[in-house]
Amino acid sequence: MASVSWDFTPLSSEQELIKREIGRICGEFDAEYWREHDKNKEYPHEFADLLAENGWLGALIPEEYGGGGMTTDEMVVMMEEIAASGGGFGATQAIHGAIYTSRPLVEHGGERIREEILPKLATGEKTIQSLGLTEPNAGSESTAIETEAERDGEEYVVNGQKIWTSRLDVSDYLLLVARTKPREAVEKKTDGISMLLVDVEDARSQDALEMKPIEKTSTNLSSAFEVWLEDLRVPVENVIGDEHAGFYNLLDGLNDERLVIAAECVGHAKLAIDRAVEYANEREVFDRRIGSNQSIQHPLAEAYMRTLSVKQTVYRTAEMMDSLNREQVGTLANASNYLASELAFDASDAAVQTFGGFGIAREYDVERMFRDARLAKIAPISQQLALNYVGEKALGLPRSF
Ligand SMILES: Cc1cc2nc3c(=O)[nH]c(=O)nc-3n(C[C@H](O)[C@H](O)[C@H](O)COP(=O)(O)OP(=O)(O)OC[C@H]3O[C@@H](n4cnc5c(N)ncnc54)[C@H](O)[C@@H]3O)c2cc1C
Repeated sequence: MASVSWDFTPLSSEQELIKREIGRICGEFDAEYWREHDKNKEYPHEFADLLAENGWLGALIPEEYGGGGMTTDEMVVMMEEIAASGGGFGATQAIHGAIYTSRPLVEHGGERIREEILPKLATGEKTIQSLGLTEPNAGSESTAIETEAERDGEEYVVNGQKIWTSRLDVSDYLLLVARTKPREAVEKKTDGISMLLVDVEDARSQDALEMKPIEKTSTNLSSAFEVWLEDLRVPVENVIGDEHAGFYNLLDGLNDERLVIAAECVGHAKLAIDRAVEYANEREVFDRRIGSNQSIQHPLAEAYMRTLSVKQTVYRTAEMMDSLNREQVGTLANASNYLASELAFDASDAAVQTFGGFGIAREYDVERMFRDARLAKIAPISQQLALNYVGEKALGLPRSF
């Protein structure tokens, strides 16, 4: 049976190489691997280790520190390929943090951090997989964080609570976002916030960090935690970026990351469509293959067309970033993220419908794709927040928050 044809986007030789190499690594992990890890809620250590051994977790780290020095137009290829190869959005979520949480260190880390830590992250000897931003009272409104870091000599003393901190069980470092100046002491709510690099083992040995996994039903390949910090001491030299102005540093690079997440959703949609088309070509009901019914065929054809189109937007934006201004990139990155999340969800839904009852049987994987795609519409930012951005910045409508 002919397979679905996906290769319309011309790739540079670098992109071709990345696609081939990542495809080769992903080829070592079959559908059962992802299914079992999802079922057992286990982090895909073997997959992450193989990526690390081959230098891929250090993709964003500059070559001078032993990393890959990869650009956004290369990252979209890598992450799309991981999702499309079988693991879907869940697999990219397990890996994404290990690559992207290093970014503020690359761009804003002081010399000691860069010299000491980046080479270890590049080889996978250490990982930074966790970002502690969200709190029980601060999700979409991240500047409402209440976790406080109070200066005491050459240390900060941190107290507060975080929620949804992903992969803290498998990470050596946590990038913690805290208020280093109380809200009342600053004019703008975006001021007075800093990023602190926390050594997780050190925090545990201080008895200053407690964590509890959140029981969840989506992206089970990585865990997310409630975290309590009590009198955690962090050296001032572990401040990443500008002291009291770290929120702005955190925002840098966010658009690139949104594009990469969009590429992950594109890969996820491809996977769901591939699986559904294969089944629709095989399964016979009323003496004909179900794929000949337009009610099965058309949603898949529509998802396919949307995948081609969203992919073009993602790749073209990644390519053009340097020639666009910040707001243009922001609009295209938010648009890509929004459209790709809708696509991943709708493609997974169409796949579940194609499989009929087997659509919710674990062994066919599309139920996992459906569960995982739902998250893409909520985190790291929700669809409404992407619409808010476009409504305000591109349409010039009044700010809604
Ligand atoms: C599995 C998972 C992993 C995560 N991992 C991390 C992590 O590693 N680190 C981290 O810091 N965070 C993480 N998060 C948190 C994630 O970033 C937040 O869930 C997300 O930003 C939404 O915040 P919230 O859940 O508090 O929703 P809320 O902010 O409470 O919003 C609830 C709903 O109201 C809508 N809403 C709110 N304000 C507006 C408005 N002005 N206009 C329109 N609609 C609005 C939202 O879009 C949403 O639909 C994770 C979340 C999940 C579920």
